[in-house]
Amino acid sequence: MSNPYKTRDGGATVTVFAPYDCGNHCPFCVNKEEYADTSGFSLEKILESIRQIEAFTPRCDFVFTGGEPLANLESLQRMLDAVPSTHRVFINTTLPVMNEYSEDDVVGFLNANQSKITCINVSRHLYKFVEEGNDEIFGKLLVPTRVNCVLFYNHAPERMLEFVRRFAPWNVPIQFRADYTKTTPENLYDESEDEILRDLRSILKPTLLEGCRIRCNYEFLDGEHKISYHKTLPYSTITETDADGKTYDILYDVLIKQNGDFHSDWTGVPMDLEDYKKVVFEPYDLHRIF
Ligand code: SF4
Repeated sequence: MSNPYKTRDGGATVTVFAPYDCGNHCPFCVNKEEYADTSGFSLEKILESIRQIEAFTPRCDFVFTGGEPLANLESLQRMLDAVPSTHRVFINTTLPVMNEYSEDDVVGFLNANQSKITCINVSRHLYKFVEEGNDEIFGKLLVPTRVNCVLFYNHAPERMLEFVRRFAPWNVPIQFRADYTKTTPENLYDESEDEILRDLRSILKPTLLEGCRIRCNYEFLDGEHKISYHKTLPYSTITETDADGKTYDILYDVLIKQNGDFHSDWTGVPMDLEDYKKVVFEPYDLHRIF
């Protein structure tokens, strides 16, 4: 640890990497390599880490990601059961229909866990990077859903509008995501060079922009259908010196890796939980900009 930690009231978002690979090879994926060697993966250690950190920040958000959290429903059930109802819980998934699970199995599992899940973020893209099930599944889910779409390759406005309207029958909100490997502190809020933003403004009705030090979110409407455009830095720690001259590492995300280890950033930085327990809390700096 280089500096004492600071984070927002309630605690940093805890992202848990499920110990199961997905069957996909998205060109923008930064997690895939970690699933090449599964020998150190441990569900038991992940569960222990979830219990430890939620006891310290009993109101933080949890995000289950991967790999593919729905690749093993029995394990996901155990992870969901380890998170008390004081937390918001998000699942990043492709809604896979794998060999051992049918669509009915997946729908049944998610609906049975409705009270434990805040939202399911489903990966769908302008190009078919992931194995996609039937879109009708959105009409069967009782849990709130959102489509996450990473904009990669060509993203002509008419293609984005067609994509938005594909999900309109179920009124599933869409979050377009910029390729964050290209996002920097200098261009995070810059609009002059942002072609995606220009194109979205040409086809959708802008409603608001909110953001913080590390990420921002433009919101739009297509009729009553909600669409957003999300930009984030490729790391989640900001180092800042406060008015008293004390320097802190400000954490936005804490990670639980596939082997149960804690990391303080997406860039491979290990974190000692005892150091995190000394964290200083500050008000969340997410605010509405227009
Ligand atoms: S589905 Fe997710 S984890 Fe799998 S390759 Fe695509 S981005 Fe990576």
